[in-house]
Amino acid sequence: MASIERDQPGIYWQSLMGNNGDGIGGNCHRYDVVTGARPDGQHGWFLVDYGVKFGAGRKGYAAEFASPEGLLVHPGEGGGPEALLLTHAHEDHLGAVRHLLPLGYRCPPVYARAFTAAMLNKSLADAGVEKNRWPEIRIARTGETVEIAGARVSFVAMDHMPGATALHIASDQASVFHTGDYRFDATLPLGPRADPAVLRAIGQAGLDMVVSDSTAAPVTDAPVTEAEIAHALERIVADNAGRPVIAGILGSQLDRLVSLGRAAKANDRALVLSGRSLVANAAVAQAGGIDIEAAAGTPLLTPRQAAELPAEKVLVVTTGAFAQPNSGLGRASRNQPGALSITPDTTVVIAQREIPPVREAQAAMVARLEARGATVVTAERAVAAGYGPIHQSGHAVERDCRLLYTLLRPRMLAAPVHGNAAQITANGRLARSVGVPVLALDRNGAVVRVAPDGARVIGVQPPERIGARERTDVVRQLPKASPGQGRDSHFPVPVFSYDRLDDAGAVVLRSGLETAQGATRPKRPDASAAPRVAVHHTAAGREGSRSR
Ligand SMILES: [Zn+2]
Repeated sequence: MASIERDQPGIYWQSLMGNNGDGIGGNCHRYDVVTGARPDGQHGWFLVDYGVKFGAGRKGYAAEFASPEGLLVHPGEGGGPEALLLTHAHEDHLGAVRHLLPLGYRCPPVYARAFTAAMLNKSLADAGVEKNRWPEIRIARTGETVEIAGARVSFVAMDHMPGATALHIASDQASVFHTGDYRFDATLPLGPRADPAVLRAIGQAGLDMVVSDSTAAPVTDAPVTEAEIAHALERIVADNAGRPVIAGILGSQLDRLVSLGRAAKANDRALVLSGRSLVANAAVAQAGGIDIEAAAGTPLLTPRQAAELPAEKVLVVTTGAFAQPNSGLGRASRNQPGALSITPDTTVVIAQREIPPVREAQAAMVARLEARGATVVTAERAVAAGYGPIHQSGHAVERDCRLLYTLLRPRMLAAPVHGNAAQITANGRLARSVGVPVLALDRNGAVVRVAPDGARVIGVQPPERIGARERTDVVRQLPKASPGQGRDSHFPVPVFSYDRLDDAGAVVLRSGLETAQGATRPKRPDASAAPRVAVHHTAAGREGSRSR
């Protein structure tokens, strides 16, 4: 396939994944910068986010992500992007890095806020990636501007999760604002917060294009603030005085953890943290200067520290809002050894809405908890009982989208991303409603050039993706001594095989890729193959090419 020339002055943007007809996630974007001052041929480029797509399990994949072929290079090779910029620490924005490195690719220097960087390192440690493969990390502060690939890139705080940042990318030719995931909620406890004055100033200085999160754009309800959620949680805990209360959240919902901490404190309960990912994420945050204990006004206790306290004087926060089998609630619902105890007087609060990919699993978990006698308050039941919402999407709803476009007032284009076709269409409609022209691309691959004379699509290159299949026939233990990995060295790490897929998720080549971390690699007929992407022929005659 002929490559699309990016040789005229301007900023070029291409969504490599994230605009998927078949679901949300795997966000990955390419930006090329050709400055007018640069002589012909000089251009720089970088990537924004490299995440995994979830909900692929029905096809047997634990994760899907944009193919690194033609994008990243191998150690010792020249070329490749100058940087990988991360907007925040959710898996659908950085979760592919743990796969790219074992596949033998070199990750360029990573620019990220401190918490995001710490979460990336934790992800690599959890995956057992050898430390000498970890990328160089350059910590970016809120409001900081750095020179990358010929552009000035500023990191702008957004409301989504700790460390969430938008990117303001400006060259002498054009400027683009890449929102990352965002919403507007001035009551999120773990700052810094999105500042409308900063966004307005960016718009007033002249902005050409906004690349913006579409996930919750179709939601017309008024946004719910975290302060309202904290109040509802406080009342639920109050109404369950004298009973053990366990709350289930996602491991990454640290703002919600603070709200639960405040609810515990207001009801004179100690806050106890349980569940591996939640405990680890809270520790990463606390070590990185995100002071959860100060925000909650109460210390985070381990179950051991709270062992002497009566069960009705603690609020246990654990994982399992999506009913994951190994989560705190998942294990408790099955009464597994070492799991949290569920007694007939226990109240379980699930501070997360049901969502389609896990709805059945959530319902089954609730039924198991109830079968063991627990009273379960789901987000839906909390609303029905008059407490109000105990969950809110972390993404911009209709009102937030309109506010963003009103503040930024891009001259040329809004390019909705991060969503399925309906979500992207809804986001585009909102941009038009406040007078912003729209380029609604509901699939990946189009290359848009933004230049002083306008913005337009200059070509479309449907990108491939990689499907990661977790192997059940091989088990890999980390070596006994893995200094600095910061994890239990005896914990088995999953091993994957990788298929090449097209942009619709159909298989192009099965198991065409294998990891380079050899210890547990199964024997292959061609044992001499270098630890890099193998080029295989398929029945259809397509073959791998690293020179796209
Ligand atoms: Zn996110």
